[in-house]
Amino acid sequence: MTGKLLYNGTVLTMDADNCVIKSGYVYMEGDTIREVGEWRPDERLDQLRSRCSFAYDAAGKAIVPGLINAHTHLFQTFMRGAADHLPLSRWLREVIWPLSLAMEPDDFYLAALIGCIENLKSGATYVMDHHYIHTSPENTSGVLRAFVDSGIRGHLARGGSDLCGERQLRETEERIFADTDALLDRWEGAASGRVRIALGPLNLYACSRPYLEQAARFSRDRDLIAHVHVAETSEQIDNTLERFGLRNLELLDKVGLLGSRTQVVHGIWLNDEELAAIRERRATVVHCPVSNMYLASGVTRVPDMQRLGINVALGTDGPGSNNCQDNLEVLKFTACLHKVSSMDASLLPPMDVLRMATANGAKAMGREADLGSLEPGKKADIVVIDLTKPHIRPVHRVSSALVYNANGNDVELVVVGGRVVVENGQCVMLDERELLLRAQSRVDALRAKLSSRYPVFASGD
Ligand SMILES: [Zn+2]
Repeated sequence: MTGKLLYNGTVLTMDADNCVIKSGYVYMEGDTIREVGEWRPDERLDQLRSRCSFAYDAAGKAIVPGLINAHTHLFQTFMRGAADHLPLSRWLREVIWPLSLAMEPDDFYLAALIGCIENLKSGATYVMDHHYIHTSPENTSGVLRAFVDSGIRGHLARGGSDLCGERQLRETEERIFADTDALLDRWEGAASGRVRIALGPLNLYACSRPYLEQAARFSRDRDLIAHVHVAETSEQIDNTLERFGLRNLELLDKVGLLGSRTQVVHGIWLNDEELAAIRERRATVVHCPVSNMYLASGVTRVPDMQRLGINVALGTDGPGSNNCQDNLEVLKFTACLHKVSSMDASLLPPMDVLRMATANGAKAMGREADLGSLEPGKKADIVVIDLTKPHIRPVHRVSSALVYNANGNDVELVVVGGRVVVENGQCVMLDERELLLRAQSRVDALRAKLSSRYPVFASGD
């Protein structure tokens, strides 16, 4: 079998020892990494290179495991920058819900495709998409088709809410679980295993207790990840305290939804007892620093979680509250946010932040055995980042350059499951320009439709 070779670059393996190989190589066959080592060309390595169908000289570049974006809502590329001045509840009512309801099934495919392209081009080979707009069953299949067509590894958390503040987005429990079963039948493991399905109860204030209890049973019976917004704002804590006398995470635990398959998204307003419960149940917290700052939601207690040994993964959150999907930018925001909020510059060294976006992300997905690091036997999900640029050079430490200097525009090459999907910084599978033109004209039309009822869509400054 002829393989692919990336050589002569700095390899950050993100293995258990955070091993860095200054001049290294990664050799893959099919969808699997076969060799990782020092690039000291001898007869064997020269032969290996000449036999390969694809050999890439990564001089001056970093070779890293594909980043894992553990929380986004891809359909929101149509909402980026629509309103930069609203807290969560108003932002939902005045921007996200009206535009979501106006979007047609084809819009969801197009919006998700642009989101997938942006994720790939900023170094994410795996996204967890929390999709909760079910005005048509074709919305969801549009997102899943975008995973397939873009070449990304995509996990769709089938969102659901039976008490959503927007009536048109409410669904019955029966419908949510029947649809999830249908998605599992049709899509689980599609595209050579790149596509997966998870459970995504929207949050703890727009879901009834019976629905959450059923979700816990469903997730256990089918061994599915449960992906839930938890404790994003202090008002959400007041809501469940009033309804049940329980804080958000206490309710999640009480209904049986807090376990090792659980992804607690945001997890901002948590007390010491709740952090202890997350640790005990071996759940993951998905931290989305840019969104939390953008919506002024609060600061997740990441340093405390690290001290407790809680698995913390990273997410961009949807483009409605980020407003981009630049996964490298998230690394810098993560480090800077916790240094300033704790007034402690020693927190979150670069390698720790890189682990959150790689190994911790893989653990969150239950995939630590085959993703999250560059080691023989793991899936060939690999990203090459150019470090030969004036905003990056000279480099003292590659890990620091990746966290503090590099951004999505520096991603040169992306391989998912052994297949090259971005080369020379360009998506190889899709006509990006044509998609962007189409998206802009659709968003212009949607704005015109909504502008008389929602002032946010009337101004175009
Ligand atoms: Zn979210």
